[in-house]
Amino acid sequence: RLGKRLDMTWIEGRFEENVITTTMEDAMNWGQQSSIWPMTFGLACCAIEMMATGASKYDIDRFGAGAFRATPRQADLMIVAGTVTYKMASRVRRLYEQMADPKYVIAMGACTVGGGPYFKYGYHVVKGVDLVVPVDVYVPGCPPRPEALLEGLMRIQDKIKARKITKGEQKLPIPHHSGYSAL
Ligand code: SF4
Repeated sequence: RLGKRLDMTWIEGRFEENVITTTMEDAMNWGQQSSIWPMTFGLACCAIEMMATGASKYDIDRFGAGAFRATPRQADLMIVAGTVTYKMASRVRRLYEQMADPKYVIAMGACTVGGGPYFKYGYHVVKGVDLVVPVDVYVPGCPPRPEALLEGLMRIQDKIKARKITKGEQKLPIPHHSGYSAL
């Protein structure tokens, strides 16, 4: 009976089917790219498309990014969806600073990317949110469709996948726009 118990032949050939080897870096990157938590906030009409992206038809949860968090401390993705006014800019910056690293930013929509329809006469609109926070992916459109936002999300996942944790987090610099202090 003891001999039968020690008979390990049953395990032979099981490793190839059931065991994978990888690096800690790849495992961590896979984990984060598959469970991105966006922050719950929207600034204008683009946010409606962001909400549609989260609803059943486009279902952002398919990408593991459906757990929108109501606090920046639990979020690692900021989707700036809508017009960034000068009055709102300092709040956007503060929310970004309260997020834990590693964190990512999508600029969604023409307003956020560069001022959009307010570029020429919008005295109250920041001409690009990258003057306020570092942007990883730009999604143009007025508004961008949910498919475009999902494409942006996939580009964020690509960035996470390629991240070299062993070489330290490669952060984008926080912008120091000369006019920012006066916002
Ligand atoms: Fe609204 Fe267009 Fe600006 Fe989006 S880009 S917030 S849809 S005006």
